[in-house]
This record gives sequence, C-alpha cells and structure tokens, in this order.
Amino acid sequence: MLYYNTHYPAAIIMTLNDLPNQKHNHKQCVSNALAMAEQVCLERGVQLTPIRYQVLELIWESHKAVKAYELLDRIKPLQMAAKPPTIYRALEFLSEQGFIHRVESLNAFIGCRCSNAPHEQLLLICKNCQEVEERTAPKVMQALSEEFNDAEFIVHSKAIEIHGLCSQCAASVATDLSD
Ligand SMILES: [Zn+2]
Ligand SMILES: [Zn+2]
Ligand SMILES: [Zn+2]
Repeated sequence: MLYYNTHYPAAIIMTLNDLPNQKHNHKQCVSNALAMAEQVCLERGVQLTPIRYQVLELIWESHKAVKAYELLDRIKPLQMAAKPPTIYRALEFLSEQGFIHRVESLNAFIGCRCSNAPHEQLLLICKNCQEVEERTAPKVMQALSEEFNDAEFIVHSKAIEIHGLCSQCAASVATDLSD
C-alpha cells in the first residue's frame, strides 16, 4: 500500500532517524528516550521513580512489543518486591505521560518514538520479529477524520494496528525462497 512509503516530516521524529527494523545505533534510541522522559517529568513536575524508569528502560531494550508479565519477570531480579500491580501502575504512568504506547492487538507495549504530546499512531507490527514501527501517517489519519466527520462519530483515540512482515524479515523470506 502506498502510504507505507510516505515519509512524515522529519521534525516529528524526536528520537530516531532510522527505522527501527533497520540497522541503527539502538543504544542511542534508549539513551534519547530515557533522557527525554527525565526532562519531561522534570518539566511536568511528576516523578520518574526508579521502578517507572526501569520499566521504561526494559521496554526500550528493543523495538519489540513487550507484555506486562515479561516486564515483571525481568524486573524481579532488580526489585524483589515488584508485584503485578507495581508494573501495571508504572505502565499506566508511562502511557499517560506519552512515553509508551499500548499495542492493543498484542496486549503489549512499545516505547514511543514520536512525541510526548498525545498523537495518532499507525503501528506496523511484524509477525516474524515482533518489532513494531510507529508512524504518524498524517494522510491516513486525515482521510479517517473525514470519514468520522461523515459518520458524526466522536473519536477518543486513534491507533491503527497492521500486522505483516517488516522490510528486513520480508527480505530474508525472499532470500530463503530463492535458495
Ligand atoms: Zn532503536
Ligand atoms: Zn508515539
Ligand atoms: Zn520483522
């Protein structure tokens, strides 16, 4: 589909120039995301407690969507007292602040690559590597808004989740077939 290839304005991308499923300096992604979260919390006067910070850091380990129970497993060695509600409260905080997004169809979370202001998302979910690429897809969102206006439908949140193969996995499938 055409809109997969349309690039959104560079200004919207705060943390990354590269697509997540391509080779890039991921350490840079992580340090940008964490530094930005610290800065935003300071500005908003909210607390980025150690547990919130650790959950955010774990989510940013990769661009794959992470489930709450996986986070709990990984945080236990760091915070022995961590219980499911601890994780859920941290996830709720991070979502509210716009640092992460919930991927509804996977019941999992990803770090936001765009902006801390509320925004619409087109999520391209790779069924092979589980990486999720977030795009703002302004043309798609505009077309949808027109549709909602016609329907007189009041939208509370707008996120489109598409399942398929990322470019890297698609390329390796193509290589396998040609062997
Ligand atoms: Zn990265
Ligand atoms: Zn986002
Ligand atoms: Zn993939």
